[in-house]
Amino acid sequence: MATLRLSALRKTYPNGFTALHGADLEIVDGELIVVVGPSGCGKSTLLRMLAGLESISDGELVIDDRRVNDLEPAQRDIAMVFQNYALYPHMSVADNMAYALKNRGVPKAERRRKVEETARLIGLEDLLDRRPKQLSGGQRQRVAMGRAIVREPRVFLFDEPLSNLDAKLRVQMRLEIRRLQKRLGVTAVYVTHDQVEAMTLADRLVVMNGGRIEQVGTPMHLYERPASRFVAGFIGSPAMNFLDARLDARLQGDTLTLPCCTRLASPVSASGEAKPVCLGIRPEHLTVVPEGDVIDGDLSARVELVEPLGADTLVHARLEGQDDLVVARVDGIRAVAEGDRLALRPDAGRLHLFAPDTGQRLD
Ligand code: ATP
Repeated sequence: MATLRLSALRKTYPNGFTALHGADLEIVDGELIVVVGPSGCGKSTLLRMLAGLESISDGELVIDDRRVNDLEPAQRDIAMVFQNYALYPHMSVADNMAYALKNRGVPKAERRRKVEETARLIGLEDLLDRRPKQLSGGQRQRVAMGRAIVREPRVFLFDEPLSNLDAKLRVQMRLEIRRLQKRLGVTAVYVTHDQVEAMTLADRLVVMNGGRIEQVGTPMHLYERPASRFVAGFIGSPAMNFLDARLDARLQGDTLTLPCCTRLASPVSASGEAKPVCLGIRPEHLTVVPEGDVIDGDLSARVELVEPLGADTLVHARLEGQDDLVVARVDGIRAVAEGDRLALRPDAGRLHLFAPDTGQRLD
């Protein structure tokens, strides 16, 4: 087990491109940290720097009070599980799992004991004599994990380990990874671009954007209080709706007027004018209001698309006078059809306000 401290960690590639702009992060013992962000934001770069596969241009990486910037990967006591499994095709499952132990000079009997013990832990007992090509994708992924576990590393790193599996197996394997990580009590950093995977796995989430850490926190904290429009739009599915609005004594858009100014210290700009804001509303915080029940603040809309999902329904609607579509997630199967006119009522207590220019949270 281990703690990791990243201080102003920076990566500039030889071509001059900076992929990581000074990352600061503390990872506590036994924690499962998930790093999430869009393609190219620097997730793999960060992970590879932790593993020692990529040099550190500036800043400091400390594992258990020891600076490891210049340590070789093998000396860092870190195991990495890759997306493509990286198994040796000519070796059996047992030999793949025992490989690192053999390199370390662990005697044969002890190697066998450890491999068998790990195989039992992750349900590979019956597959130890097979070659990787005789295994399914899920089984190969399990071997890759087994190979990491057998080494008893201080830290586990996962680089999108489930992206080659089908949706059902992904759900099953991510539950298994979480269960194993907690059972072994090992510190882990897990990279994915899948925000649902991130939300369900993480003790804490690190959201990255353009080589910078945007926000760190528990999944629920990031869902409830995203620090920026970027995080708000990235966490939650379907994504948060954003509308232009103005704020003085009330929140006003082209079609809405809501009494929610009390949440901001200065809703009025220096010149006394209503402040422009970006209003964020999650799809699950919009209710479809029956005709005749409409009150001030409800949004008139025309339904463009209905997606029944079984447990709930996504209603895509165009607000009166606006170009963009908004999405509402409503319970059950709803008798709404394309072309219907209806009203959507935002939950006034769960609105998010962002600065239109910087995208930073305002309240
Ligand atoms: P993905 O989800 O697509 O794997 P990522 O978030 O893991 O993306 P990285 O692979 O860390 O992103 O890449 C971050 C940025 O650094 C990208 O713009 C990428 O093009 C750039 N990059 C990666 N490796 C190098 C390299 N060796 N030289 C120069 N630029 C690189």
